[in-house]
Amino acid sequence: MVEVAIPIPLFQTFTYTLDPAAERIPVAGSRVVVPFRNRKEIGICLGQSDGSGLRQKPKRVIEVPDDAPALSESMIALCRWIADYYVVPVGVVLRTALPASLTGAEQPTPRRKTQRIVRLREDLPTLMHRDKAFARAPQQRAVFELLESVGGTSTLDHLLGSMAFSPSVLKALEKRGLVRIDSEEVDRDPFALRIGEPARRHTPTSAQTEAIQTLASGSAGDVFLLHGITGSGKTLVYIELLREIVDVRGQTAIVLVPEIALTPQTVDRFRAVFGDRIAVLHSALSDGERYDAWLALKRGEKRIVVGARSAIFAPIENLGAIIVDEEHESSYKQGETPRYHAREVAIVRARNEGAIVVLGSATPSLESWTNAVAGKYRLLKLPDRVGGGSLPKVEIIDLRHKATQLADSSTGPGTGYSSVIRDELDSALAATLLRGEQSILLLNRRGYSAFLQCNDCGDVVVCPNCSITLTLHRAPERLLCHYCAHQETVRSACARCGGLTLRHRGMGTQQVERLVSERFPSARIARMDVDTTSGKWAHAEILDRVGSGQVDILLGTQMIAKGLDFPNVTLVGVVDADVGINLPDFRASERCFQLLSQVAGRAGRGPKGGQVLIQTRVPSHHAVRCAITHDYATFVREELEGRVSPPYPPNLRLANIVFSGTNDRATAALATRGADWIRDLLTHTAGDVTLIGPAPSPIERVKTRWRWHVLLKSANSAELTRVGRYFMEKFQVPAALRVTFDRDPVALL
Ligand code: ADP
Ligand code: ZN
Repeated sequence: MVEVAIPIPLFQTFTYTLDPAAERIPVAGSRVVVPFRNRKEIGICLGQSDGSGLRQKPKRVIEVPDDAPALSESMIALCRWIADYYVVPVGVVLRTALPASLTGAEQPTPRRKTQRIVRLREDLPTLMHRDKAFARAPQQRAVFELLESVGGTSTLDHLLGSMAFSPSVLKALEKRGLVRIDSEEVDRDPFALRIGEPARRHTPTSAQTEAIQTLASGSAGDVFLLHGITGSGKTLVYIELLREIVDVRGQTAIVLVPEIALTPQTVDRFRAVFGDRIAVLHSALSDGERYDAWLALKRGEKRIVVGARSAIFAPIENLGAIIVDEEHESSYKQGETPRYHAREVAIVRARNEGAIVVLGSATPSLESWTNAVAGKYRLLKLPDRVGGGSLPKVEIIDLRHKATQLADSSTGPGTGYSSVIRDELDSALAATLLRGEQSILLLNRRGYSAFLQCNDCGDVVVCPNCSITLTLHRAPERLLCHYCAHQETVRSACARCGGLTLRHRGMGTQQVERLVSERFPSARIARMDVDTTSGKWAHAEILDRVGSGQVDILLGTQMIAKGLDFPNVTLVGVVDADVGINLPDFRASERCFQLLSQVAGRAGRGPKGGQVLIQTRVPSHHAVRCAITHDYATFVREELEGRVSPPYPPNLRLANIVFSGTNDRATAALATRGADWIRDLLTHTAGDVTLIGPAPSPIERVKTRWRWHVLLKSANSAELTRVGRYFMEKFQVPAALRVTFDRDPVALL
């Protein structure tokens, strides 16, 4: 008999018998096809079972599909740790650790599809050119500019479908020679096709050398926090460590990055050195391609894996190092069950397998910093920029001061240019353009306007499914919910009072793009946000254009803040630093500081130096103040003080339990019952776990589900696990309602 874990939301495993005539005998880690509730499931064998405590006659394993186990003993141990710590059934974790092609009940056969691709042929670099070209064809202009904003290529389906352009507009553009339409294979790997730059091998600076030597002499299970300011050359340290681990010692390594699409330059650098010994696991891989990469790693054909969060489950053996680049990034935390944090999993995996961990960041998370200060992690510093460069000068533009009203050409709804881009930033942009250098403009809010508000009654247009406002988008014009993607046409009158004036509130990137292109009609502007990067390779295409000097101003949301290394960017402007700073979340300030520091770090990476201008209404807020002075230490000190009373991580451990359901009152009642249940449990145990709540979640309703939550706080991690586990296993939840347990939450919204 064998013990089998099945990916279902129950905290138990199952016992099956084996067919004595079967040719394959499953061992721990083998996939097994088993009968389960009148269907077939793919489970993972956890080992032999003596069948004790069985109340029913066990059923028989139907099939053992593979010769070798899919998961190694150490991967099973890792999954068991995740299941325990994050309070999730082990079967659910095991499924997460395997590529989707191995866990679907019927095997999907990967096949190659073709699709129609629309591509810009002609460049109309400036506003003046296009005014002339599209004088009588506004639709064609809209398609042209949309294509341009997504890096010059898009699928025909995307333009005709979600963007709702008519085929005749595209035909007209094709006829005029402005676009080309061809058929292409889907899922071509952009990284495989990229012609990497030849590997420039720099001589490490003395600070880099010291870091590399310390890392190379690390012992099994050591965790290093590499605190290197922006532009200090962390990537070179990673590469030299990988050379040692892979080339010298013949071991393997995992490199985690927040999101592959956003960091093509970093990936290029690794590829330039290690070539096809690297497997790049990016989100655009099909299930089949992902499976191929998984196999190549398992067979030892590839020795280094670069990928986002889930690459931590790469099936490689003889692991020497795990690098977690930009370790503070919240994308390392999975937003759905199992809600694991890849950084924590990396540390456990390295400890189990005798590898070292390198956590790199210019703005380490408070958790990692505290661990380094406490001596749990070893702190390494790269305090200077390479090549003698210094961090750029950062200045504040106080938005509370009234804007000087210049002759403002912008009309229509919204705010005029001169109140959005203040004089100092405007002059800096103009001067940068004149010098032929590049600028980055950050505004962490996509769309055209954040919301619409009735001028008469003050009513705000909100999503019918979520308790948040609808954002106005242009090209095509619509109201869009950023949580559930609900769309509706823009209303001309207030739904509540019928008032005819709906004011635009809160500026988004689309509006800034319009204002800036009107102010600088000859500037080449690229916008990068969720809306312009829906095409699979759109990020890399936009960034390649910036890199080759075809863009004067790169405008975008937080996705332009990280990892970019463009020496000709000499100006960074933050249009509104205050977006998100007042969110009801204990990490709001930390996130704001990280974003401002990271984006400031994009300026002045070349010999020309750089300048950063931050527009804000709260210049004295510590997140803003410390970003201006590049003062991480002061930020951490003040932020940690702010998390003492009431206490928040890293001053203690936290778990967020969320109750949700489509019925408002039933959800509230469940949360109350859950909170009472836990309180009762806590009075009967001698531990030091405290419960806060219940209360409605800050965003009360998402995708038609009402949400309530309680917080569990404790200085004792094991105690928190015990209470959480007991609750999740024993508390009865009616069918229509749901309870989720989020250990070490990155956000409480
Ligand atoms: P970080 O990730 O710390 O912000 P990067 O790794 O992107 O910094 O390095 C910044 C720039 O410095 C890159 O263009 C890189 O090629 C260059 N660089 C790194 N180390 C050296 C070195 N020792 N000598 C010269 N240039 C270097
Ligand atoms: Zn919604």
